[in-house]
Amino acid sequence: MSVAHLYHPSLYRFDEAQPSYWEETAGDRDLAARPLARDEHCDVAVIGGGFTGLSAALHLARDFAVDVRVLEAGHIGWGASGRNGGFCSIGGTKLSIRRQMRRFGTEQTRRYYQSQVEAIELVRSLGSDEGIDFEACGDGEMTVARNARAFRALEADAEVQRRALGLDVTLLSREAFREQGYDSPEAFGAAKLVPTFGLHPMRFVLGLARAAERRGAVLHPRTRVDAWSKDAGQHVLETPAGALRAKRVIVACNGFMPEHLHGTLLGRPLPYQSNIVVTRPLTEAELDAHRWRNPCPSIEARHLYVYFRMLPDRRLLLGGRGDASGEPGKAVDVYRRLEGRIAAIWPHWRDVAVTHRWRGLVCFTSGLRPSIGKFPDDPSVMFGFGYHGNGVNTATWAGRELAYWLAGANSDDAVEPLHLPALVRGFCPRFPLARLRRLYARLGTLYFRLKDTIG
Ligand SMILES: Cc1cc2nc3c(=O)[nH]c(=O)nc-3n(C[C@H](O)[C@H](O)[C@H](O)COP(=O)(O)OP(=O)(O)OC[C@H]3O[C@@H](n4cnc5c(N)ncnc54)[C@H](O)[C@@H]3O)c2cc1C
Repeated sequence: MSVAHLYHPSLYRFDEAQPSYWEETAGDRDLAARPLARDEHCDVAVIGGGFTGLSAALHLARDFAVDVRVLEAGHIGWGASGRNGGFCSIGGTKLSIRRQMRRFGTEQTRRYYQSQVEAIELVRSLGSDEGIDFEACGDGEMTVARNARAFRALEADAEVQRRALGLDVTLLSREAFREQGYDSPEAFGAAKLVPTFGLHPMRFVLGLARAAERRGAVLHPRTRVDAWSKDAGQHVLETPAGALRAKRVIVACNGFMPEHLHGTLLGRPLPYQSNIVVTRPLTEAELDAHRWRNPCPSIEARHLYVYFRMLPDRRLLLGGRGDASGEPGKAVDVYRRLEGRIAAIWPHWRDVAVTHRWRGLVCFTSGLRPSIGKFPDDPSVMFGFGYHGNGVNTATWAGRELAYWLAGANSDDAVEPLHLPALVRGFCPRFPLARLRRLYARLGTLYFRLKDTIG
């Protein structure tokens, strides 16, 4: 196993689509995009055709008429962007709010959360400005307490979120949640955080791609960058059928980061698996059995949580952490565990068939926060990654911020984006003994499991 590919090779088959519900219902896939077929050049080359890369390309082409190309190893949206849960939600870090405030101060922490709200609004506005029908649903995110102790913790968090961070959060008692959410032996009330909503991620990513093309960006799917060098001050990105020369590069690969391409990237990301199951459409009677009324994306109030939402055609989507190896056999156990959670939370749905199962990689960093910046040894290279299981809003926002920074709209030359919240600035330190990152992930899981147990 190379450092570039930390997990089992089955997770890096760029020529295969995941058997996801989103792939099956993606709608219009009509793009001009073609693989790079010969040597070409451009001003800015973006590696990675997900939310980060496509948002950067769209904003560069649309707002600054920059000559930009996107190189994507798979099809557009092949990575996490086309296969996530579709939560357009506040997140991006695994640091607790209290630790963020201790480390970055209340003002910077508040700035970070306000940028998260802004990022959700950015996604909504891209939908309306660029005519992307991503099937938005819900008007907030429910964090559901599975017992009275968890609800008390939600109450304490809500107070800080409102007072210190300016977030719009409402508490729903057990009875109120039964009216607005659903009935379950594992529902003791919830916190509702606005303005989160749910969307169809593949439709969003394809819509971004179409918008980027319309504004002049050139997209090259099925064009994996295999080597990266510099020649006469220009970057040379070697792909199977030709090389792309560019003055600047944006690295936008998050959990699928090809670390082997550049020494500066080695040991920075910690990819982590997330898996999803989707059921067949539920009947009205089945929904009534749990008094289901909840249109909002939802998560459990615990560290190792599952996330779930009801899709527009009444299928339940539920996802959670994957295994530490990436072997297809191990994924089967993960899907079984996720289906077990459906049976535990909604006992009347225990026999409802699951029709889709898939997985992908999210991305952690050693600082448990996103990383946006320029290479310290070469400021002509920019990067945005480490969204910690979030990304619909954060990656889209990071792409826009990279584009504005590159085009000079935020005129500072520092290698860290000083105009952005401190929480996202620059690289986090490399993981020591980077080959042990899967072990670190396993230890992290044990730690959070213990925290969930003792409260
Ligand atoms: C199962 C799952 C569920 C998730 N659920 C949610 C959710 O509900 N809400 C949320 O906000 N976030 C969620 N996320 C996280 C979110 O999807 C990601 O943070 C986000 O999509 C990252 O976008 P990106 O563009 O940075 O990276 P990606 O979308 O992963 O794109 C990176 C791209 O880089 C390409 N690439 C890699 N190497 C090369 C190379 N050598 N040459 C060319 N291209 C290359 C890959 O093919 C890939 O397409 C989820 C992720 C997963 C896996």
